[in-house]
Amino acid sequence: MEAVSTSVGLSVVVPVYNEEESLPHLHAAVVPELEALGRSWELIYVDDGSSDASFEVLRGLADADPRVRVIRFRRNFGQTAAMAAGFENAQGDVIVPMDADLQNDPKDIARLLEKIDEGYDVVSGWRAQRQDAFWTVTLPSRLGNAVIGRMTGVVLHDYGCTLTAYRREVLSEVRLYGEMHRFIPAWAAAVGARITELPVAHHARRWGQSKYNLRKAVRVLLDLLTVRFLLTYATKPQYFFGRLGLRVWGLAGLCWTWTLVKRLIWGEPLYTDPFFMTGIFLALAGLQILLFGLLAEMSMRTYYESQGKTIYVVRETVNLPAADPLDRRQRR
Ligand code: UDP
Ligand code: MG
Repeated sequence: MEAVSTSVGLSVVVPVYNEEESLPHLHAAVVPELEALGRSWELIYVDDGSSDASFEVLRGLADADPRVRVIRFRRNFGQTAAMAAGFENAQGDVIVPMDADLQNDPKDIARLLEKIDEGYDVVSGWRAQRQDAFWTVTLPSRLGNAVIGRMTGVVLHDYGCTLTAYRREVLSEVRLYGEMHRFIPAWAAAVGARITELPVAHHARRWGQSKYNLRKAVRVLLDLLTVRFLLTYATKPQYFFGRLGLRVWGLAGLCWTWTLVKRLIWGEPLYTDPFFMTGIFLALAGLQILLFGLLAEMSMRTYYESQGKTIYVVRETVNLPAADPLDRRQRR
């Protein structure tokens, strides 16, 4: 029997929230596919605070097979948190998250791995024939995908597909918050990953209920804003705030120029001129924004330096000693 610490080829991570009916079917469908791959594997179920019997079902599965691991949250933290917990505990060289409701097809795992073996770091699943309600799910998510593609610069057909294969190194660079699991490819691209997509099957949900609705769209939009900002300015926030502050000062300057013109040419008094006051307001606002940028610069430094993070990502090195004496990560 395999010991827990031996190296694992593939980790499949399944977020589970109230999926008691689906789980036995899922497990019965996934395990034969994993066995057929011919590499070592583990299957990590993350019970995201289910209130039904999901955990008991999972415990039964794990008791029967040590390659099945279970993480149980104290309460419901959301799909992104569940996936993050699975990733952090995964030992595989390749990590493949998938939904618990069998909407993803376990047969596709082998196809994703083939692409990884071709040298890609991320192979994103694309539910080309989506089996969800058109107006409330498919259409909004198509629009969302288009917007995400534009804003992040990583153009994929389907960001919402859980079934995706990641090379381990890529995920170890990515921290997930909010609903951000759908932006992993964008983060991955930012650390230089080679990304591709692959059409995968998609089935209608047969047991249990979907946990999502249109409200999720708002959260995704807000996350997108954060991601866009971080992708562009995470290591140089003052470029964003400073530029904005200077622009606002420019507007203040225009207002005051107009005031001056009116004063010199038509002799209008300052205190009756709304542009004079507007200029003062804009100058103060610009100052605030600039100072805010300085604060952002400070917290950025705290973020990077307290965690020993670098502002670059190395793919590999040649003839460099493994433990670089200047490497700040050693100091932790
Ligand atoms: N899920 C989770 N925590 C949540 C909501 C969902 O772990 O708070 C899991 C759920 O059990 C499923 C996956 O995330 O395995 C996708 O959820 P769902 O099928 O409800 O989403 P949909 O396919 O309808 O977008
Ligand atoms: Mg689903």
